[in-house]
Amino acid sequence: GAHKVVSALEGELQRQGLDSEVKVVATGCHGFCEQGPTLIIEPAHTVYTLVKQGDVAEIVQKEFKEKQRVENLLYQDPLTGQSAATFANIRFFAQQTRVVLGNCGFINPERIEEYIAHDGYQGIAKALQEMSSDQVIEEVKASGLRGRGGAGFPTGLKWSFCRQSAGEKKYIICNADEGDPGAFMDRGVLEGDPHAVIEGMLIGAYAIGADEGYVYCRAEYPLAIKHMEIAIRQAEAAGLLGNNILDSGFNFHLSIRAGAGAFVCGEETALMASIEGKRGMPKVRPPFPAQSGLWGKPTNINNVETWANVPHILRRGAAWYAQYGTEKSKGTKIFALTGKVNNTGLVEVPMGMSLRKIIFDIGGGIQNGKKFKAVQIGGPSGGCLPDEMLDLPVDYDTLTRAGAMVGSGGLVVMDETTCMVDIARFFLNFSQSESCGKCTPCREGTKRMWEILDRITKGEGKEEDLDTLEHLAHVVKETSLCGLGQNAPNPVLSTLKYFRDEFEAHIRDKT
Ligand code: SF4
Repeated sequence: GAHKVVSALEGELQRQGLDSEVKVVATGCHGFCEQGPTLIIEPAHTVYTLVKQGDVAEIVQKEFKEKQRVENLLYQDPLTGQSAATFANIRFFAQQTRVVLGNCGFINPERIEEYIAHDGYQGIAKALQEMSSDQVIEEVKASGLRGRGGAGFPTGLKWSFCRQSAGEKKYIICNADEGDPGAFMDRGVLEGDPHAVIEGMLIGAYAIGADEGYVYCRAEYPLAIKHMEIAIRQAEAAGLLGNNILDSGFNFHLSIRAGAGAFVCGEETALMASIEGKRGMPKVRPPFPAQSGLWGKPTNINNVETWANVPHILRRGAAWYAQYGTEKSKGTKIFALTGKVNNTGLVEVPMGMSLRKIIFDIGGGIQNGKKFKAVQIGGPSGGCLPDEMLDLPVDYDTLTRAGAMVGSGGLVVMDETTCMVDIARFFLNFSQSESCGKCTPCREGTKRMWEILDRITKGEGKEEDLDTLEHLAHVVKETSLCGLGQNAPNPVLSTLKYFRDEFEAHIRDKT
């Protein structure tokens, strides 16, 4: 409803003769999904949530004629019942550290001037004017940034592999094929701050020695593609993309490719095949993309959030960045908080914050006063964690040890009414239907696993099913070709580990 609110605001300001004094700025998303559309009055910072067209006349009248807030339209905290008028007082925002999301909801993503006014493109300017390519790589290494797409591989190290590869022609790619159910972090960044991604890619291209790049974005994100297209055209017009950028002799050309809806195209080798116009199927590695990637040339791929972190590291320094997070997982991470939690939306916190703090303090706890049961973290490749794991710090290594993964950052919260066998079946069904079919363990194994789960949820499970399920899960995990198959059993294995009694109850009670 945000577009309707914008039109209503423009009409109302005109009607009340205020259109020359008050400007309406349409921004990207603030990330507070549960309470959108959100409207901020500046410079007072007053926030109105769940704004409807019908609220607009009163807001304009009170705010700009009577200089008062509309108290009954302010955000109400579901836990305390108290109202809050600014982001600093709304629990959802107050405990976040918004670095990558810092501009989202505050600038017009269709205007490069607004990004520049918020220190945009200073990172690439610094790199080109003061640093060698090797120094840029060392800075990114020192920051401790790890890939935000799921695997958590150290970004600076990854760049150095591609830089060291022989060959004049190199590519970089932004993986914007965000496909996990319940994940929309990259969408928020692309729609709300596309220039940050371009700047991150410019810095990466300079460091690696690439002169051409692609943003591979899922076609289901039309607004993200539109904003990125506008941003690329503006950056070209400003001399920030193209030849001889900022008179440095550095050339970099960027274009967009839209995916066609296959989850597996988020896998690096499948993604590159898709850009090349081939069917998106993973390939055996080696060779790794850093040696032989797009059209056989050295290629570096990072996801949207990783690229969007890079300008901050260059601009504010590795030490500044590394102050956030844990010893081995530095910086902040964006999570898409969804499910049975009061405050759904995009949450950016320092790595190492506990799940409890994210779900209960920022997320405002479980809807309708119900009890927390589990959280699925890391999408279909991740795992389900029970309440005894709520105090785990969210970082790459701790979550992997617990049988889950940070993944791209989806957090789906479940309450006491959720059947964990259904959840395992849902996520496995997703991976099964997205399997590209190239290798047998993933193609056939996930299908057989799904059949067992389906049988159990229908009350037709047999005693030996759990052993077979576990055995199959390990076979699929260990023998599949790519990450999709290797991680597809994770939701099943983690629910079997932490909620085995629910599987047994289905089989025993034939329910
Ligand atoms: Fe395709 Fe699955 Fe094999 Fe990956 S693991 S190549 S998705 S069949």
